[in-house]
Parts: sequence; structure tokens; C-alpha cells
Amino acid sequence: MPELPEVETTVRGLATVLEGQVIRSVRVNRADLRRPFPVDLAQALTGARVTGLSRRAKYGLIHTDRERTMVFHLGMSGRWRIDPEDIGKHDHLVLETGEGRVLSLNDARRFGSVDLVDSDRLESWPPFAALGPEPLGPDLTAQLLAGAFKGRIAAVKLLLLDQRIVAGLGNIYVCEALYRARVHPAREGGRVKPGELKLLVPAIKAVLEESILAGGSTLRDYARPDGELGYFAKDFAVYGREGEPCACGGTVERIVQGGRSSFFCVRCQK
Ligand SMILES: [Zn+2]
Repeated sequence: MPELPEVETTVRGLATVLEGQVIRSVRVNRADLRRPFPVDLAQALTGARVTGLSRRAKYGLIHTDRERTMVFHLGMSGRWRIDPEDIGKHDHLVLETGEGRVLSLNDARRFGSVDLVDSDRLESWPPFAALGPEPLGPDLTAQLLAGAFKGRIAAVKLLLLDQRIVAGLGNIYVCEALYRARVHPAREGGRVKPGELKLLVPAIKAVLEESILAGGSTLRDYARPDGELGYFAKDFAVYGREGEPCACGGTVERIVQGGRSSFFCVRCQK
């Protein structure tokens, strides 16, 4: 499942092909993904110039000179392919630029989505309206988390996954950040000390930035025909490592919180 770093890497890869370009043609090969494609998607984008790309939480945004922004979500299995050698049955949306570059949105499980949103109303678009600050932006601070966690008995892990508190943080990165900050995932949010929050915030930013950097190192592949954006393997310190030793000599354990696995070191994280 694509997490924030994969979406960020995808957006950067798409930008290398789309930024400043006119979309010459738009082909919609089926009616829906998780929900229907906008009925006027092809009409709205054909002939539009892409003015820029950005990311909000786990959504990618393609801004156009028609004051409308195409917002995509990769769901569970979505990926963009650049200059694919052939268009398969899972390539549901295909864009061609004025330069003849082809981008296809491929999504076998179809949990992704594509929407058109008025560019000046993005902040109030319902999926964005309640989102907390971006984890990599200046608004995520120890002070903000202290305010959000104050008096909360919910586990710190679950609070960090709450998109209203921080936008776009996924399971893997929360596990890794808590490990670096040495905070047990089941600790009550309100009991995380200010000094620990001061470690947690840079840990969150660092694990995300390192993954984006790892994905960015595959940027050269974007120029390759049939290049696929957005998926890359990275080694994690605790995620997916149940039963393995931590560098401290402790053991990585797994518990289930909110239906999802948390991995942590029993010795380092209190
Ligand atoms: Zn340890």
C-alpha cells in the first residue's frame, strides 16, 4: 500500500513529465475506481496545461491552468506508469502530453480515486477539510502534539495515525518513529513527556525524509520506458521484524492496535 513517501516520490516523478506540459489527450477506460471518475474528466483536462504538482497527505495533486486540480489517491495498489509499452486492462486512465509522453494510472484492485476539485477550494474539499498539518511541514511541532495529546488516554500509536492530528502518517512510519523516540506504542497519549515529543517530531520527519530519499534514488528509472512510479523497498528497524533482535539486544515484538500491527522493541521503548 503506498504510503506518504511513495506518493511524494510519485508526484516528483510525474512532475518530471507533466510540469508545464499541455495534456493532449485523456482516455478513461472504465467508469470508476473506488468511486466514479468525474464525468467531465476528459473534457476538463484535454488541452489543459499542467501548472504544477503537489501532495497533500496521501493524495497527489495535478494543478491546471483551468483553475481545476486533479486529485488522485493510489488506494491499495495504484501506480502511475510512464511511457508504458502497452496499455493493459488495469490501466484505467491514460494521459498523453503534447510531447507525446504517456502516463497511465494502473490500479488492479481499484481502491484508488480520481477527483476534480476547484483549485481555490482545495482546502475546504471534504477529504482535506479535517486534515491535520503535514508531517514534513513547519506546523508539526512538539507543541502541537502536546496540545493534541493533552489528557488523551488513547494509545500514542493510534493518535499519530489519526489524520486530524497529523495528515498522511501511515502504520510503518509511526512504528519506526516511535522506535527512534523510544516511546512504547501503547503508551497513553497524554502521558508522553514533553522531552519525548521533542524526540518524536524529528523522528517522524526523518523516517519520512529517508524513505523519500530512497525512492528518489530510483528517479533515474522514471525516464525508462515502462517505468513504474511509487513503490520501493526499504529496510526498517522494527516494522515487519517480529522476533528479530534490536541493536540494543532486546527483541522486536508485535501487538495489534486498532486492527493493525505495531512493532516495537521491548527493551528500548517504554
Ligand atoms: Zn531495542
